[in-house]
Amino acid sequence: MEVVNDSTCSWINDLTPRSNIQTLSSDLDCEWLIIGAGYTGLSAARKLGQLYPNQKILLVDAQLAGEGASSRNSGYLVDTTLNDGFTSNKELENYKKKADIYKLGIETVKKFIKEYQVDCDWNECGKYFASSKSEDKDILENFSETLSQLGFEHNLLFKEDLTKRLGTNFYNIALHTKGGILLHPGKLVRAMIDTLPENVKIYENTPLLNWKKVNSTINCNFKIGSVKTKKIIFATNGFLKSLGIKRNYNFPITLTASMTRPLTNDEFKLIGEPKEWGVLPVRPMGATVRFTKDRRILIRNTAEVHNPYKMVQSDLKKRSILQKIGIKKRFPQLPDDIIQSTWSGIVSRTRNSSQLFEKIDENIFVAGCYNGSGIGVGTLFGEQIAIKASNEQTKEIETIEARSKPTWLPPQPFLNLGIKARLIYERLRARSEI
Ligand SMILES: Cc1cc2nc3c(=O)[nH]c(=O)nc-3n(C[C@H](O)[C@H](O)[C@H](O)COP(=O)(O)OP(=O)(O)OC[C@H]3O[C@@H](n4cnc5c(N)ncnc54)[C@H](O)[C@@H]3O)c2cc1C
Repeated sequence: MEVVNDSTCSWINDLTPRSNIQTLSSDLDCEWLIIGAGYTGLSAARKLGQLYPNQKILLVDAQLAGEGASSRNSGYLVDTTLNDGFTSNKELENYKKKADIYKLGIETVKKFIKEYQVDCDWNECGKYFASSKSEDKDILENFSETLSQLGFEHNLLFKEDLTKRLGTNFYNIALHTKGGILLHPGKLVRAMIDTLPENVKIYENTPLLNWKKVNSTINCNFKIGSVKTKKIIFATNGFLKSLGIKRNYNFPITLTASMTRPLTNDEFKLIGEPKEWGVLPVRPMGATVRFTKDRRILIRNTAEVHNPYKMVQSDLKKRSILQKIGIKKRFPQLPDDIIQSTWSGIVSRTRNSSQLFEKIDENIFVAGCYNGSGIGVGTLFGEQIAIKASNEQTKEIETIEARSKPTWLPPQPFLNLGIKARLIYERLRARSEI
């Protein structure tokens, strides 16, 4: 499976290009090897670097570090979710276990930001679960009940209030949660790269082609060169399945998003000069929409099984048209052609929305599958899988492992047929919200 991305993601293009990129070109050996340099892999590498200052730790990515989903997401660091992709979690006890993990995720990112004085446009402004359909009140009232029982501050809002806060009269009802942070995902992951401990050596544009355990050594073959390692952590998220990891427990989904240019002063006035905000849909396949601190609008309104994962420009163009319509529906007063970029990214899902956090064989570990909540959970899981791989136990690991494990998935072609049917159904249910 080739891992290549488009170069049209605004979050990435906001940053200064990195120099000093090193690619593996020889045969090496090491104590620790981490595959995948997103939030999970970077966080694992940072922790191992701190735990073992005298050991050799290698971190490898198929593309430029951090430029997978970790830079391509919508930037919601969530404390609560209403939907996990296209599944809802209704049982209180399960919901609490999930929210406990989110809380630890936020704390882990917060600790990192504080320790390294990271500027990633951090804004503790909460988030809205919003709908244009007044009949979605029932769903929000049920959700409100769950949040009240677990002590999450929130309030229900209606059209007039929402129009003032968001600058669009598209939404008729929303539940605002006070918790949850909006941030610039590209800046966050870049800071994780820039602050890696010195004993972590990073190789980029270095795809892992295959791997094999022989006695107590894991042999990994890359496009050029190979690595023999004592311990390995797989942090490739949407690409776990293609590396044969937990093959029957996770599957990739391709998402696309678009971002506008910053609104001009006049356009900003036209929409009522709102503060930064983030909306998540009430219906699973509805649009995620953000208004950023620098007055750009982000919209993500597709999720699909796409083969190959990477989208060519013509495919992106089609999704971009859908996103232009989504923006126009919400902001008819804005000009037509304000979208500046459209990109795709790969997330990983499991059947029951639980994440992967496991030792899969002696000295072989995996962490991943966070669907739309990988900023906090990925950062947490990376750190904690490094600790687990060091045979240590923490309260965080107990919390992570208290959640049920991912459940078994049917083989192909039944799996893809099932996912596609479900996505079509959810897309129909959410057609007004796209
Ligand atoms: C459009 C979009 C919107 C999202 N919105 C949000 C959001 O608002 N909030 C949120 O919390 N989450 C969101 N997510 C999900 C979030 O981005 C992911 O959960 C998170 O980035 C996962 O981090 P990771 O490090 O596990 O994986 P990734 O960031 O995917 O990193 C995995 C890395 O592995 C590398 N890799 C893959 N195969 C190989 C190989 N064979 N050899 C070497 N390297 C390999 C890849 O190149 C990649 O860099 C969104 C995702 C997308 C795409």
